[in-house]
Order: sequence, then C-alpha cells, then structure tokens
Amino acid sequence: MEDRELYRRILGIENPWRVESVDLQLAPREVHIHLTHEGLPAWPCAECGAPCKLYDHQPERQWRHLDTCQYRTILHAEPPRTQCPTHGVRVVKLPWAEPSSRFTALFEALAIAWLKAASQKAVGDQLGLSWDEVHGIMDRAVKRGLARRQAEPVPHLGVDEKAFRKGHKYMTVVNDLQRGRVLYVAEDRKQESLDGFWGTLTEGQLNGIEAVAMDMWDPYVNSVSGHVADADRKIVFDKFHVAQHLGMAVDAVRRKENKALRAEGDDRLKGTRYDWLRNPVEMDPEDRKAFAALRNSELKTARAWAMKETAMNLYNYVYEGPARKHFQWWYGWAMRSRLEPMKEVAAMLKRRFDNIITYLRHHITNATSESLNAKIQWVKYTARGFRNKQNFINAIYFHCGGLDLAPAATK
Ligand SMILES: [Zn+2]
Repeated sequence: MEDRELYRRILGIENPWRVESVDLQLAPREVHIHLTHEGLPAWPCAECGAPCKLYDHQPERQWRHLDTCQYRTILHAEPPRTQCPTHGVRVVKLPWAEPSSRFTALFEALAIAWLKAASQKAVGDQLGLSWDEVHGIMDRAVKRGLARRQAEPVPHLGVDEKAFRKGHKYMTVVNDLQRGRVLYVAEDRKQESLDGFWGTLTEGQLNGIEAVAMDMWDPYVNSVSGHVADADRKIVFDKFHVAQHLGMAVDAVRRKENKALRAEGDDRLKGTRYDWLRNPVEMDPEDRKAFAALRNSELKTARAWAMKETAMNLYNYVYEGPARKHFQWWYGWAMRSRLEPMKEVAAMLKRRFDNIITYLRHHITNATSESLNAKIQWVKYTARGFRNKQNFINAIYFHCGGLDLAPAATK
C-alpha cells in the first residue's frame, strides 16, 4: 500500500480531503502529513450549513495528531474559507479538529482520557505538552461539556465554600446532590459569587429546586432568597456545620476550664481536646473507658459536651412539632448553664433554627457530596502547577462536573 493511502486510512481522512504527501523525518522522529482537498462546487458555511462558494484559503496550519509508530505525527493543511450571504467569510469546519485547536480531535480525546486519570504534569510529560497546551485542551473540553449540558431537574443543591490553596481565598461550589456533580464554581464566597449561578438554570430547573444545603452564611442565604421562590422553606443549614459550631463552643469551655484546673495542679483536661470532638463510638475500648470517666464527671466541659450531644439529637426526630419542643427545652438548659460559649451558640442556633429544622423535611447535607469533596481534594493536590484560579475552576468542572468532554469530531 502506498504511504499516502496508508495515512489516509490511519487518519480516517475522507472526501473531499486527501493526503497529498507524507514527509518522514527520521532524525526528529516526526512524520508530516500534508492534506489537500478536491475542488467542490460548494462548501457548507460553518455557521449555518448553507452551501457557499469557496472564498480563499487560510495560510497553512498544523495539528498534532496521535503518534503513529512512535513518530510524532503532524497534519498540515490550508483551511478553506467560504463566503456566506448571511455570515460573511468563515473558515469551514474541518473533520479532524475543533476550531482554534492545534491538535486533532483524536489527539485531544486521548489527552482528555489521560487527564481524567493522571495529573496534568504526568500527562504533559508523557505527551510532550506544555502547561498552556494542557490547559487549552482542558479549557476547550469544559466549554464543550458545559454547552452540551441538558437542563435536567436539580431538586437538591449543596452550596459549599472551598479554600483555594492556603490562606483565606475561597471558592463557591454548587453541587447537584442527587447526581453527585459540580454544577457551578465561582471565586470568593460573597453573595455575588452565588448570584452568578442562578442564571445558568432554566426557568423549569429554578422552579424545581426543593432544597438547598449550605453553611450558616448570610451572603449565601441572601443569594438564595433573592432567586429561589419560598427560599425560607428550602434552605437547610448543614447538619455538620451545626455540629461544628457546637463543637467549637465545647472546646471554648474546655480551654477555659483546663486553664483554671491546671492553675490548681489538676491535669484532667490536658490533652483531651480531640476526645470531646470525637464520636465515642469510634474510640477504641480503652480510650472510651477513660473518656466515660471524664464525661460523667462534674466538670463544666462534661456538661457542655452533654449539651452538644443533646442538641444533635434534634436530627433523630421525625416530626417537626416534637423537634421544636426538644429544641426549646434544650435552649432553656443552655441559657441557664452559665457557660458563656454554650449560651452564645444556643442564641445563634435559635436565630437560625427555622432553617435548621428544615432538615427533617428534606434530609440533605453537604456530606452527600463527600465523594465530590474527595475529588476536589485530589484536584487541589494535583494542582500544584495551576497558574491561576481559572485553571483550578476548569479542573473542578473537568473532573467533577459530570460533563461530556470529548471533541465532537470523535463522535
Ligand atoms: Zn452561514
């Protein structure tokens, strides 16, 4: 078989395109394949598909293809341009590559498949791609995937903040709790960060929202209230966030008491910080026994801890009425406790209670997206080469968006 015919078949090049010449360069181990086309009476406009006259050709462009026989393989062609009565002069759609890519669709598909499984650095090294080239491939893949998204119902949303690198730079991430995918990522954790999300939904999706899990964070509350009907019945403050606040209050009690005890030479609370935050069920028997002695003591910390556990029993109720009664009773206990941190957290929970109790109706937490969080952690871990936040945002969509990323030409 003639090498031109061989490469036509390998590349899957079809009429009107054909291989004009094959230039094998032994020293750099490259094969350059020059494509040309037959004369056609008309070419479809890239915009509307209407048959148009050939206008001219762009200067020669190159596309990196999958290696053939371990030779770096590069296609060359002069893309034709048409003149459409409606859209003017346009480059035609090329069957082997997406517009504006310097890689063939098959090469991009391979790189995407590898990037799904390995770090950007590993894929870049293996395929001989620069950072910019890797990011270009990911950026195009994400744009395609987002454009292809269908407007499926998203009844349960989770709004989460994520720290970006170290320090206090945040991202806002919106999860589809039902399908376990990231729907939206934005910089910061301001109201505007979340405001941008609602416009990506259709009217039907927006009306179909049943519940939104989130931290007790007013900018998010304001954004949901401004965009979702009956938001006050749909916002569910995250159970684990509630537990975290209670845990911090217990810890504040412990720190103060520990200081006072140690001044009197009593070391009982020394080094127990994490015991009060852990679930006793998860302790080994010896630790559990030691901890039982502590929590059954007359210490203030033990009282605060019991208060925390009792508050969390709220989540075991089935009906709202008894749950409200339980909370009212608990709130009175906390307020009479003379433990300042417990009084403060009780007041805060009372103020937020209407959107804590909504849990009993919707049963959602942001932990539903635990596996997503693990994936985002992985993205962060393999993200050491990110130059900017946009790359990081793209990587989250790429790995966690549940998107259809493949170039159209490979389908
Ligand atoms: Zn047109």
